[in-house]
Amino acid sequence: MTENNARTVAGWNFDNSYARLPESLFNLQDLNPVSSPKLVILNQPLASSLGLNAEELQSKNGIEVFAGNQVPEGALPLAQAYAGHQFGHFTMLGDGRALLLGEQITPEGERFDIQLKGSGRTAFSRRGDGRAALGPMLREYIISEAMHGLGIPTTRSLAVVTTGESIIRETELPGAVLTRVAASHLRVGTFQFVSNWGTVQELRALADYTWQRHFQEADPGENTYLSLLQEVIKRQTELIAKWQLVGFIHGVMNTDNMAISGETIDYGPCAFMDAFDPATVFSSIDVNGRYAYGNQPQIGAWNLARFAETLLPLLHDDEEQSVKLAEDALSKYSELYFGNWFAGMRAKLGIFNEEEQDESLIKDLLGMMKKHRADYTNTFRALTSGKPEDTGLAGDEEFEQWHGQWQARLGRQQESQQSSQQLMRSSNPAIIPRNHRVEEALDAAVQRGDYSVMERLLQVLSCPYALSTEQSDYSALPESSAYPYQTFCGT
Ligand code: AMP
Ligand code: MG
Repeated sequence: MTENNARTVAGWNFDNSYARLPESLFNLQDLNPVSSPKLVILNQPLASSLGLNAEELQSKNGIEVFAGNQVPEGALPLAQAYAGHQFGHFTMLGDGRALLLGEQITPEGERFDIQLKGSGRTAFSRRGDGRAALGPMLREYIISEAMHGLGIPTTRSLAVVTTGESIIRETELPGAVLTRVAASHLRVGTFQFVSNWGTVQELRALADYTWQRHFQEADPGENTYLSLLQEVIKRQTELIAKWQLVGFIHGVMNTDNMAISGETIDYGPCAFMDAFDPATVFSSIDVNGRYAYGNQPQIGAWNLARFAETLLPLLHDDEEQSVKLAEDALSKYSELYFGNWFAGMRAKLGIFNEEEQDESLIKDLLGMMKKHRADYTNTFRALTSGKPEDTGLAGDEEFEQWHGQWQARLGRQQESQQSSQQLMRSSNPAIIPRNHRVEEALDAAVQRGDYSVMERLLQVLSCPYALSTEQSDYSALPESSAYPYQTFCGT
C-alpha cells in the first residue's frame, strides 16, 4: 500500500487505499456542510496516538473537518457500499449517513479509518436524511470508549460536533457528527455486497486487500482465502467471548454490523446487562430476542456462515471442495468460542489451570445468578473482593456449598491466593457503563449542554478494573424504577 505522507498542521496524514479497490465498492461524495458546528467533545489521548495535534483540532479549521464542512488535505471522502442480513433478511445497504475521509497513517505507521457519522446524505441514503442526533452519537462515544477501557477490540471515538441544525425524528433533535476511528470498516456485509453484485475478480481484490490490511502477520498457509476465513472466525470467537464475559449486548448483530477486523462496531441499541439473564434484550426493535445476550455466540456463527458463503468462489475451483473447506472451518467455531469463554471464566474465578469439573463450577454459579437475578458485574466483583455476602446469592444453601467447592478448587492449584486475587481483579471490571449512568450523562449533555457528567463518567470508565472510592459510586445499581430499560437505534 503506497502512502501520501503529506502531514497537515493538525497532523492529518491520509492514505486512501480503500479508494484504490474496484470502484463498485464505493461512491466518491461531495460534502454536505452544516451551518454552525461546535466541538463538544474531543478524545485527546486518542488524537495524540494518531499523531494529531489536539490544539489544532479544536481550532476553527479543525472543527470544520469534524463537521464535514472541509476536506483535510489528502482525504478523499467516500461512502462505502455494503449489503447485509438485517434480522435475517438480506438487503442492499451502504453508508447512508457516513463518509470515510481516508486512512490516517500514524507516526508508528499504523493505519486507521477516519469516518464521519451523521455527515449527510450519500448515494446510499435511500429515504434517510443522512444525519444523526446528538444523543446517540454521544452514546456511541461513551460505550465505545468504555469497551476500549475494558480491553475489548472496538472502533474508537475521536470527536463529536454539534451541527447547529435540528433533525426530525419523533421530535426535533439537535444534529451531530461523530468522528469514528476503526482498524477498517470492512464488514461481512462488504463481502456480501461483492458476492451478490460483483465479479469474482472484484471479490478476489477485496479478499486480497483484507488479508493485507488485517492479517499480514498471520500464516497464509497454502490457501490464503481459507486462512482468511479461519482468521476471521478466530477473531470473532475472541470478540464475542469477551462480550459475554463482561455482559455486553450489541443489540443489532446484523451482518453489516460485524467488522472483519474483529472490532466491535456500530453502537446502536447496545447496553450492558445488570441482572444475569441470558434472555436479556434492551433494543426496542428486537421484539423476538434474536440478539439477546445468550444468543450472541450462535448469531456470530450464523453471520460467519454468511461470510464463508461469499468466499466459496475463492476457496477452491471445485464447488463441492469449497463447501467442504468452508464447513470444516465453520465447524471449529464452537470449540474456539468455548475455549475463549472458558479461559475467560476461569480467570474471572481466579483459576489458572484446567480441571474437568470447572465447567460445572462455572455453570452452577451462573445458574444461581440467574435464579436470584444477581447483578452480573457486582457478583464477580464481590467474589473478587472476598465478600461472598455481597454477591446477592448469600443465604442460599446451594451457594454456600458452591463457595466451599470453589475455595477447594483454588486450593488445588499451585498459584498463591494473592495471584489468584490479582487475576480476578484484572478479569472482573468494577465498573461498566451502567445504563442509568449513561442516561444521566446524556441528559446533562443534550438537555442542559453540561458535558461535565459525561466527562466524569468517561474518566471512571477508562480504568474499569481499578477500585477507587470514586468508582464505588459508579458500581451502584439503579433504582428499580429505571426498568425495564429500553434502547433505540437512534437513526
Ligand atoms: P445502522 O442501523 O446504523 O447499522 O444502519 C443501517 C443502515 O441504515 C445503513 O445502511 C445506514 O447507513 C442506514 N442509515 C441509518 N440511519 C440513516 C439516516 N439517518 N440516513 C440515511 N441512512 C441511514
Ligand atoms: Mg450499521
